[in-house]
Amino acid sequence: MLSDIKSQTLHELQTQFRTWSQPDYRVSQLLEWLYVHRVTDWDAMMNLPKPLRHLLAQTYSLLTLELIRKQGARDSTQKFLWQLSDGALIESVLIPANPALYGEPSDRHTLCVSTQVGCAYGCKFCASGLAGWKRDLHPGEIVEQVLAVERWHKGNPKPGTRNPEDIAALDPRSAFRIPRLIDNLVIMGMGEPLANYDNLLKALTILNAPWGRGIGARKITISTSGLAPQIRKLADEPLQFRLAISLHGATDETRNKIMPVNRKYPLRELTAACEYYQQQNRRMITFEYILIAGVNDGLDQIKPLAQLAHRFKAKVNLIPYNKVENLPWTRPANGAQEAFLAALEKQKVHATLRREKGHDIDAACGQLRLRTERELK
Ligand code: SAH
Ligand code: SF4
Repeated sequence: MLSDIKSQTLHELQTQFRTWSQPDYRVSQLLEWLYVHRVTDWDAMMNLPKPLRHLLAQTYSLLTLELIRKQGARDSTQKFLWQLSDGALIESVLIPANPALYGEPSDRHTLCVSTQVGCAYGCKFCASGLAGWKRDLHPGEIVEQVLAVERWHKGNPKPGTRNPEDIAALDPRSAFRIPRLIDNLVIMGMGEPLANYDNLLKALTILNAPWGRGIGARKITISTSGLAPQIRKLADEPLQFRLAISLHGATDETRNKIMPVNRKYPLRELTAACEYYQQQNRRMITFEYILIAGVNDGLDQIKPLAQLAHRFKAKVNLIPYNKVENLPWTRPANGAQEAFLAALEKQKVHATLRREKGHDIDAACGQLRLRTERELK
């Protein structure tokens, strides 16, 4: 199988082009077609000579994601189900910063991307882990989620926004030019990102680079269920991403009940790795805490959770559990959620509670795939 063009760094492309006796500016032209115009076809790269396009097509694949299903309203959270070239399904979720509840523009967008097909970590509450791990995504498949959503957005402009044809009229080549839509990335889709470490880092390098998609490292948050050695490795990287830890329990007893990964890396090891990450990065860490009725919403969690939050000066994001088909877990009643938040605030913890409606669409990644695969069977 050919390696995908969107899995290549600038350096790799320059090396390849030099073996073909092609000047470096040809690489820049190629990159502009990929990351500014986001074309899906070699023949669209009009300023590259035909023999070079032919050589590229023989050497690399130029894969795009096929949109199988989309859920959600134009101005709120939208979920994309993509099919990969081998038929596997993954999800991305587009989240506007202002949900435009009153019709105001929602111009800043966050994209939640997947890093694996399925997940091997088997957290008891999670749809992504239910059918196990299938494979890692290639760097290009991670990068392409951003480009594909932006392409989709261009083809479906929101009423009242600039008409792409108007922009195209200014510059003939810009018929392909696609305005940037996504400014933040959260690596919280399907899969455990730090278990696909090398491909993730390569994808994020491409998405971050000025010659690539140009998204600032500080606008990229990686979420992990707690792979301690990889957290340390991440701390040593030159690019300083934000880190979110899926805590979901403030004691080993509670975490062990729902997250098998905690038996491998118990809290003592996880927190030591977080400490190292903060020493290297001087960056805030966020703790994610999904609230599951009768499992981790007891007030006995408040004290140890507050201790952890204070130790890391971490913000705690409380997220009411989203029901997953065929799993017994449910979210606590609103009153219990508010009580948990109030108890944390009383301990002077900086905490937020997601109170969104329509959580059938906001539902965590993995569910649309699960449902679609069941329907297809
Ligand atoms: N594997 C990584 C990133 C993907 S999961 C991790 O675990 O952090 C992204 C987040 O969604 C995690 O915090 C995860 O615990 C949470 N999550 C999974 N299933 C959920 C559900 N049904 N409801 C709410 N959050 C869920
Ligand atoms: Fe994997 Fe994260 Fe789901 Fe756990 S919560 S099974 S680590 S995707």
